[in-house]
Amino acid sequence: RIVYVNGSYVPEEEAKVSVFDRAFLMADGIYEVTTVVGGKLIDFAGHMARLGRSLAALKMTPPADTEALLAIHRELVVRNGLDEGLIYLQVSRGSADRDFSFPPEGTPPTLVLFTQKVAVLERESVRSGIKVASVPDLRWGLRDIKTVQLLYPSMAKMEAKSKGADDAWMVESDGTVTEGSSNNAYIITKAGTLVTRALSHAILHGITRLAVLRLARETGLTVEERSFTLDEAKDAREAFITSASAFVTPVVSIDGQRIGDGTPGETTKRMREIYIAESLATAI
Ligand code: PMP
Repeated sequence: RIVYVNGSYVPEEEAKVSVFDRAFLMADGIYEVTTVVGGKLIDFAGHMARLGRSLAALKMTPPADTEALLAIHRELVVRNGLDEGLIYLQVSRGSADRDFSFPPEGTPPTLVLFTQKVAVLERESVRSGIKVASVPDLRWGLRDIKTVQLLYPSMAKMEAKSKGADDAWMVESDGTVTEGSSNNAYIITKAGTLVTRALSHAILHGITRLAVLRLARETGLTVEERSFTLDEAKDAREAFITSASAFVTPVVSIDGQRIGDGTPGETTKRMREIYIAESLATAI
């Protein structure tokens, strides 16, 4: 694989980042993941807009402008012959001697991008739906900033897997679901209303979420952006998750409790089709 590091395209074995990099020592880094289908980028503008918000929230220097970042994404697609997969982008505050204070103004950020060849259109998880297990949400409070501190979500996913599930749904102390370990969480109530948590510091503002809610409203679904409890979710007609790589993926059980008849829901399947059709039509 050819990866991008600070201005150079190099074979992955030759790519180097300092041991003093702030992302390595302090998780002082942010990231984005953009999906590629047919060699084209899905919702690139959305991912770059969120990157800008993460940079601003952490007072980090932008590593390059959006046009330059698009050129790097495209170059990696070409150099790696990527037809379907993901492009991971990470920016850190750069490297400096270990200190809790930010490094001096002018310290260059570290920019790394690499590709991952993975199937996104055809997945077993879509045919069968996924099982989720609830875990307490013990992450920090600024979950709307897409930082590389992914240890708790990683632990949550392992905990869910140890219980025989595929992923975790994280739950606040008041019993409401925040989101999945790396995706946003939704239910469709018995009355047919699509419910997902409202935007706040409590969840990542998914780029897929934005598109799916817009498309759901356009198709005439009633959408409520509000918190829902784990109990309400277990009693729902359908459930699903969204992310750049999962698109819309059905959830068929929560803590061993079947959702609906235990198979992917009809509205969920329709939303996946609509989302994919629009994403492919607008990919760049
Ligand atoms: N929530 C969390 C915690 C995530 O890590 C992700 C994926 N990065 C999402 C939601 C989904 O965001 P997106 O649709 O932009 O991939």
